[in-house]
Amino acid sequence: MVSVAEASAVVWASLFKSRPKSAQIEEAVGKVLAERIVADRDFPPFNRVAMDGIAIQYASLKVGAEFFIEAVQAAGEPGKKLKKANHCLEVMTGAMLPEGTDTVIRYEDVKIEKGVATIQIKEVTLGQNIHRQGQDARQNDVLLDSGILLSPAEIALLASVGKNRVDVFSLPRAAVVSSGDELVEVSSTPAPHQIRRSNTYALQAAMRSLGWESESFHLADQKESIVASLRGIVKNYDVIILSGGVSKGKFDYIPDALEEIGVKKLFHQVNQRPGKPFWFGVSENGKVVFALPGNPVSTYMCFYRYIKPWLLKSLGVEVHLIQATLASDFSFKPELTYFLQVEVKFENGKLMAYPNQGGGSGDFANLKNVSGFLELPADRSEFKAGELFPYIPFRSLF
Ligand code: AMP
Ligand code: MG
Repeated sequence: MVSVAEASAVVWASLFKSRPKSAQIEEAVGKVLAERIVADRDFPPFNRVAMDGIAIQYASLKVGAEFFIEAVQAAGEPGKKLKKANHCLEVMTGAMLPEGTDTVIRYEDVKIEKGVATIQIKEVTLGQNIHRQGQDARQNDVLLDSGILLSPAEIALLASVGKNRVDVFSLPRAAVVSSGDELVEVSSTPAPHQIRRSNTYALQAAMRSLGWESESFHLADQKESIVASLRGIVKNYDVIILSGGVSKGKFDYIPDALEEIGVKKLFHQVNQRPGKPFWFGVSENGKVVFALPGNPVSTYMCFYRYIKPWLLKSLGVEVHLIQATLASDFSFKPELTYFLQVEVKFENGKLMAYPNQGGGSGDFANLKNVSGFLELPADRSEFKAGELFPYIPFRSLF
């Protein structure tokens, strides 16, 4: 048996070697950038008018506040030129600042009558309301580095530099495999001794929420057929996520079957609750196998605690530890890392975690009441309100 820290270290040392793959930017949100993006032009590329109004030459303010309007400079028009220093042009947001002007006064601060604009305010600053060429970035500046998780903000940057396709890190081809003779299809009516399969749905949904597609399989509790099926699955996928069949039961054949087909066990059993029977191994050619215990809460917790960070780390994304404050005293005696189900709430800027532990690893109905797991260390049994612990969320707060 290994500790949670040891298990994590082994998993993080067995990352998937992702390769860059071209994607349309419409499909790239949530993916990890696999190239460096530089500015193709200055940002902004010209002195951009930042307010609708008039553009003047600042020095002319000494002469007076009335400016004859020579022309209108719209956005999308080539830049115009001020002909006389004490005249002005009407300018629109997004237009090029006309040559010969250096200051923009917004419409709200001028009165326009008979082709003459009169400035109504006393305070005017040289260069106001102009978004200067190159103010945000210079041509050839690095805008984005490889390894960034693309949010809509980065998609805007990619679009603005003309990248309609971009290299992103490919996700591992994944198989999600359930096992157990008691499990039937979602669409069927179970006999009294059967239950519907739910873990693969939970796993695939969790993966899909990360933009990670997968295929699902089911194995009966029959050793030879497990060996044969797993051989094919391990051959065809980069990562295999199993649930069930890894405990001490008479029909828990998965660990033996995996070793038989050449997947080397790196650990079996983790000092944790839920999820103690967790088995992890890697094949000679680098296929990674997470064989999770079948109890639904165990499967679920292990995905968020081990597999999600494994994926992010494989893609080169920095994974940040989140902490939450335990909201009430809690006691847990066994010397195991306990993943306590909690409902979190923001209170006075603090993430407060309210225990709602549910009825054990089989009680997945309780997950609807909670938003994540608080990781309570194995070497203690009393946990005090106000203490901070690592928090593993599966639900966002909004
Ligand atoms: P196992 O790890 O195979 O011993 O299974 C532990 C418990 O989890 C048993 O009660 C199983 O019926 C249940 N279980 C296993 N796999 C699934 C699944 N895919 N969906 C729902 N329950 C499952
Ligand atoms: Mg089973």
